[in-house]
Amino acid sequence: MDRLTSLPHAYKLARRDARPGGTVVELPNGASFGGEEVAICAGPCSVESGDQIHATAQAVAALGANVLRGGAFKPRTSPYAFQGLGAQALKMLREAADAHGMAVVTEVLDPRDVALVAEHADMLQIGARNMQNFSLLREAGESGKPVLLKRGMSATIDEWLMAAEYLLVAGNPNVVLCERGVRSFDNATRNLLDIAAVPVLHALTHLPVIVDPSHGTGVARLVGPMALAAMAAGADGLLVEVHPHPASAASDGQQSLTFEQFEALMEQAAIVARAVGRRMPAASLAT
Ligand code: PEP
Ligand code: MN
Repeated sequence: MDRLTSLPHAYKLARRDARPGGTVVELPNGASFGGEEVAICAGPCSVESGDQIHATAQAVAALGANVLRGGAFKPRTSPYAFQGLGAQALKMLREAADAHGMAVVTEVLDPRDVALVAEHADMLQIGARNMQNFSLLREAGESGKPVLLKRGMSATIDEWLMAAEYLLVAGNPNVVLCERGVRSFDNATRNLLDIAAVPVLHALTHLPVIVDPSHGTGVARLVGPMALAAMAAGADGLLVEVHPHPASAASDGQQSLTFEQFEALMEQAAIVARAVGRRMPAASLAT
């Protein structure tokens, strides 16, 4: 830790001692990142239809998730893969979230779409593939919306914090970091989920840190155990892919949980949260 904390303080605004009490990022529905209560972001990889996103919002909200995720603009490795429903999906997300007392987080891929996404979402996600897209960071930083900044797939902690610094220096104090695994020599899992990043970051920065065990492992069966590990390590929240029928998902079905699997995860996460002095969000009473 000494080596890390003695790095030159190039991230002037993100560094821990710039806000020793820590940053708490709050969304309009009361979801909060960085306080005693953790934030639970859940939903499908991609928004596929109004029915799909409504059914998912209803199920995950009833189990205590307070932020609805779902891709409208998808960053796909292949240009021939499903690219997302775009603006139409933003409306579906908003309606589904509002019906169940949830906030919306969704990815923005292009600086030209920041205003459109900000119109519908409560939080802008900057994906792993765009962590160092500096024009996107500047635009998102000026959007006035909280930003969920995912770790680039080969990004060091230092590079990640510098990317966060771009958002902060643009005048946006509401930045949450999301560990989602890094490239590794081992292909037993999709990515290598760096749980140590959570306490490392908590020492280096005042920004909240959440963990995405879905992209972090790529395997539904591994999502629960790694979510619990993340909570135990002090994560300020989770981002989990959940789908009504993972086998027929348009993207990332193999790592998506069924509603039943998500229910089991939430029960266990509540036990771990209590053990480490944290609180799960209250389940939504909206129908
Ligand atoms: C996603 O959240 O669906 C996603 C594309 O994530 P990442 O940028 O971490 O790959
Ligand atoms: Mn995905």
